[in-house]
Amino acid sequence: MSVRKSLIAANWKMHKLISDAESFIVDLQDKVKEFNDREVLIIPPFTALKTVSSKITRKDFFLGAQNCHWEEKGAFTGEISVSMLKDVGCTYVLVGHSERRNLFGEIDSIINKKLIAVLQNGLKAVLCVGELLEEREANKTFDVVESQIIRALAGVKEEDVGNVVIAYEPVWAIGTGRTASPSQAQEVHEFIRKKLEEKYNKDIANSLRILYGGSVKPNNVDELMKEKDIDGLLVGGASLEAGSFKRIIEYVL
Ligand code: PEP
Repeated sequence: MSVRKSLIAANWKMHKLISDAESFIVDLQDKVKEFNDREVLIIPPFTALKTVSSKITRKDFFLGAQNCHWEEKGAFTGEISVSMLKDVGCTYVLVGHSERRNLFGEIDSIINKKLIAVLQNGLKAVLCVGELLEEREANKTFDVVESQIIRALAGVKEEDVGNVVIAYEPVWAIGTGRTASPSQAQEVHEFIRKKLEEKYNKDIANSLRILYGGSVKPNNVDELMKEKDIDGLLVGGASLEAGSFKRIIEYVL
């Protein structure tokens, strides 16, 4: 069990029209119990940000965006800047999700620029890292995760890194129904914390939240959250339905 306040995040990806997003957030806030040790983060598609933002009434609920551009403004057709996300009420921005890396060619240097832009605008970044199946099978998990973290955090200073949350999401577990076992996840989370201690210091490493993502469901959440370095969850599929997401937020230790 983690000693940090947990963060349970819903990544809706390219799902939900505005009306669905609205009824979901109203219903969820109404039904989910309030906990002192947990926060909830809703990450809708861009089109539903304003609506969800206007419907968030609880102090333990936050809004996030799935992506951003690193420039402040300019001729970047189709892109959204961090200040625009701040303007609509976002507190968090997801950076480096594996779908951005693998389907849209986002490399570590781009992820680094986005993460720095998020922090410079005073928002918090959820930095996603994780290995492919072939990398795990070739025993490269730790090398891959270490290099993703070091490259994404290049130039991020001690005083700013407190606004970073890391999400360990093994790519082979995302949307596949195949979850990392609690011990597989814990082992990588512990490794990430060790790398943060090496790069920064023990206090920072112990205060940063490391989320697990990859086919989290009501039936595996309790076991995952019992691990000491799992400080929350990034949930895709199971966050689309209020009942299953409610059960995930209300995990039992
Ligand atoms: C995700 O989108 O980050 C994710 C973990 O998805 P799923 O829960 O569907 O595996």
